[in-house]
Amino acid sequence: MKKYKIAVVGGGPAGMMAAISVGKILNSNLKEIVLIEKTNLGEKLLLTGGGRANIANSKPIKEQLLKFNTNENFLKHSFYSFTNEDLLAIFKNKGLKFKEEANGKYFPINGNANLVIEVLKEYLDELNVDVKLNMCVEIITKEDSGFHIKIRGKDNIISSKVILATGGKTYPKTGSTGHGYKIAKNFKHEISPIKPGIVPIAIKDKELQKLSGITLEDVEVSFRDNKNKIKGNILISHFGLSGPAILDLSNFYNNNTNISIDLIPNMTENELNKKIVSDLDSKGKMLIKNYLKLYQKNRFIDYFLKVIAVDGDKKLSNLSKKDRIKIINNLKEFIIDIDGVLSFDTAMITCGGVKADEVNSKTMESKLIPGLFFAGELLEPAGLTGGYNLQMAFSTGFLAGKSATKHFNNLNIK
Ligand SMILES: Cc1cc2nc3c(=O)[nH]c(=O)nc-3n(C[C@H](O)[C@H](O)[C@H](O)COP(=O)(O)OP(=O)(O)OC[C@H]3O[C@@H](n4cnc5c(N)ncnc54)[C@H](O)[C@@H]3O)c2cc1C
Repeated sequence: MKKYKIAVVGGGPAGMMAAISVGKILNSNLKEIVLIEKTNLGEKLLLTGGGRANIANSKPIKEQLLKFNTNENFLKHSFYSFTNEDLLAIFKNKGLKFKEEANGKYFPINGNANLVIEVLKEYLDELNVDVKLNMCVEIITKEDSGFHIKIRGKDNIISSKVILATGGKTYPKTGSTGHGYKIAKNFKHEISPIKPGIVPIAIKDKELQKLSGITLEDVEVSFRDNKNKIKGNILISHFGLSGPAILDLSNFYNNNTNISIDLIPNMTENELNKKIVSDLDSKGKMLIKNYLKLYQKNRFIDYFLKVIAVDGDKKLSNLSKKDRIKIINNLKEFIIDIDGVLSFDTAMITCGGVKADEVNSKTMESKLIPGLFFAGELLEPAGLTGGYNLQMAFSTGFLAGKSATKHFNNLNIK
């Protein structure tokens, strides 16, 4: 059985960065590190940012940590150990530069996700990482001689330490099928409930679905019974709602049955009321439906008036107080019944995973099994859109790799 110092399971961004981090520290000519990947390196990374790889964000780390729905303290150490700037520098060293786009998102200049993977592969090669592709790790056990890694249809591998970076459960055709949860559970690690994240939301109302293609700009959306409010655009599609605000909101989904949209978040109810009252004279000849189109998209306003049962064909000057209040209340809190979030197949991330409080946040080592480390999306925290999830994969991968190189005194390596 082949023996290694460190085995990394999973060749996504977290696993590749973990192996690179180990390789840089061990600086060995021998193939002492193995990276075992079920499909090919970075299959999911290739799809990120619409194929352009939004790998990080320029926001200060304090703000980045707030983009995670749980455990921002858990990620603190890894994000400071390997920052967005450290990440960009790794690529810059190989000639791949990044540019900052809207909302602080970093993308490669003149390039795409493929170039990001090429750089990571170059490092793996230089650092003598033994990369094994198309090999699926079935289960791992810890014996006196080290971790025994059982690979489907192949010889087992032994390693003194293991970094588990098998990702979540979304886009399973990329290799992330949730297998890592089974491996972690076998070591008695608890997996917090997993659910799809950064994912569109299905709606019931066929009339609303017919507005497919319309974007509601600069609105604020929340689940009606949840305090988290997200500002941004909502895209209506033939199955439901998508767009940045909805994708981010989906991370907070908890079997909610409806969402609430503030269609004019930059005005309070009072301000809106004052504005409409003052317009009753100056814009009184306008039809109510045309007047409201000054605030939101045309076809949506027709739908909106139908839902709240206000006659939009009346003149604004004839708007009754009762209808005015109804319009204002609904502009500020328009409720849409939802049919849940879409499945793991279409979700960008998995929320939930290996419980953070069973992992040492300073090292990424298991608190239950010494020598076992975790990195990336397999872990519990889930981030919003903007490059935070890839940063988490790279930062936790880097820290896990660095920590795993420590204390090699009781190794059983030839
Ligand atoms: C369409 C899409 C777009 C996205 N865009 C962005 C973006 O722009 N910015 C951003 O920050 N995030 C984005 N994400 C999320 C981001 O891709 C993930 O958070 C990130 O890839 C997680 O990295 P990881 O290494 O932890 O897991 P993964 O990338 O999922 O890699 C895990 C690897 O482990 C392998 N594996 C699994 N089980 C086994 C096993 N038993 N044996 C061996 N190997 C195994 C898998 O084959 C896989 O290659 C996007 C995701 C999707 C799906």
